[in-house]
Amino acid sequence: MASQSQSYDAVVIGSGPNGLAAAIRLALEGLSVKIFEASDTIGGGMRTKELMTAGYKHDVCSAIHPMAVSSPFLKKLPLNDFGLEWIHPDYAAAHPLDSGEAGILSRDLHETAFLLEEDEGYYKKLVEPIVSNWEGLTHDFLGPLSVPKHPIALASFGLKGLLPASLLKRKFKTEKAKALFAGMAAHSILPLNSIATSAIGLVFYGAAHTGGWPLPKGGSQSIADSMADYFLSLGGEIETDFRVSTLKQIPETKAVLFDLTPKQVNRIAGDVLPSSYRNKLSSFKYGSGVFKIDYILKEPVPWKNSECAKAGTVHLGGTFEEIAESEKMISEGSHSDNPFVLVAQQSLFDDSRTPDNKHTLWAYCHVPNGSTRDMTGIIENQIERFAPGFKDIIEAKVTMNTADFENYNENYIGGDINGGRQDITQLFSRPVSFINPYKIPAKGLYFCSSSAPPGGGVHGMCGFHAANSVLKNEFGRSKSDWTFNI
Ligand SMILES: Cc1cc2nc3c(=O)[nH]c(=O)nc-3n(C[C@H](O)[C@H](O)[C@H](O)COP(=O)(O)OP(=O)(O)OC[C@H]3O[C@@H](n4cnc5c(N)ncnc54)[C@H](O)[C@@H]3O)c2cc1C
Repeated sequence: MASQSQSYDAVVIGSGPNGLAAAIRLALEGLSVKIFEASDTIGGGMRTKELMTAGYKHDVCSAIHPMAVSSPFLKKLPLNDFGLEWIHPDYAAAHPLDSGEAGILSRDLHETAFLLEEDEGYYKKLVEPIVSNWEGLTHDFLGPLSVPKHPIALASFGLKGLLPASLLKRKFKTEKAKALFAGMAAHSILPLNSIATSAIGLVFYGAAHTGGWPLPKGGSQSIADSMADYFLSLGGEIETDFRVSTLKQIPETKAVLFDLTPKQVNRIAGDVLPSSYRNKLSSFKYGSGVFKIDYILKEPVPWKNSECAKAGTVHLGGTFEEIAESEKMISEGSHSDNPFVLVAQQSLFDDSRTPDNKHTLWAYCHVPNGSTRDMTGIIENQIERFAPGFKDIIEAKVTMNTADFENYNENYIGGDINGGRQDITQLFSRPVSFINPYKIPAKGLYFCSSSAPPGGGVHGMCGFHAANSVLKNEFGRSKSDWTFNI
């Protein structure tokens, strides 16, 4: 139980990447900050656990971190001094097809383009301007909707980003370039004919050719641990096993930052919110869910295309059209028997994940929000399609459906891993369309989770922007007073 006698400048509820980022940002300005975390360990979507057998480490949620290494805030923190070590697989991603060929996303733009054969020229034309303007783009994209500070960088993105992926893909000639793009755009968890799904795909290409798509040595928990240790070194406090269910539990403070989604904020703070705002939070849209399997494998996945074994992430689902069809079905509330499956094979590149020469595998597919259907067979058929013999090398597995995810972390409403649907209406102006979307219209209350801009992923930018808003509104500190900036 928190000591009610102590007061803090700010209190953060939840220790996900955004809660930790917000807390660090405020502590960097000398404020006293305390984090309350419901679970017995910190980290939110960055936990790594021994789910089946001692010594085998599985990333329960996030696994691969293009957004963390591209984050203007996280990359400025000395997290490597606190034990964070990035590992870069030979390739960021691979996308095998039935023909036996595979689209390959290398860290090197020219290699990626070259491997796309006939599409070499168009890939370069599309992605090179994004890569050259990456710094400015990440500053503008990883924040709330505002006047761009880097208009030239944004122009490099052009109208292409606004297009549905299904339109932009027409510029590619080869099946593998189209499929590779489908896999990137499908990270949006939206139908690929939705506006701006191209932007998501292009951002994942840009990230690959700049910071890469690394995985942390030891698991995503190392990001959480390094952030928490850095926060503690700045004088911050963390209390785990403390689920906040009412504002009355919170010690005296000037600011409360919720690393939570609208549903929980309504529950915890509803009685101090204007009814119009409560209604807006109630109409916030959550996205599709996920069904996940963690494996212990007797040996590495026997990919038909051996280049897939060099990739940290493998996207499965076949052609652009197949992936578009499955994402469409899911957004309409049905399950796909031929889903897009995201696979991460961390132990191929990080030998600290297993105690012996066996392997771990992380795989999930999208499902309708709230689904409880067991997708094990369907995911395994999809892996077997591109890796015949896969089913024979499974030693153990554990599955999580959308209800398991919500039980594990209350933020994953109906299995939505992004804190809300990331369509154009909710991408930059979430959870409500306010000029300052972080500020809740009640004294000292703020959103700092992925339900605020720029949304899901491990980048901490929602927390960073929320904390800046707290500094300005509650402590009267303008940018010129800050000792830390990005
Ligand atoms: C299966 C899966 C795969 C993913 N893969 C990736 C990936 O590879 N790369 C990537 O970048 N992102 C990935 N993500 C998304 C990423 O994990 C999330 O977008 C990110 O964690 C959101 O951060 P957050 O800080 O907003 O919230 P969270 O990480 O959800 O943290 C919220 C915290 O608040 C705590 N909490 C909840 N309610 C309360 C309460 N009442 N009182 C106190 N504490 C509370 C929770 O226990 C949790 O620790 C994945 C997510 C999932 C589930």
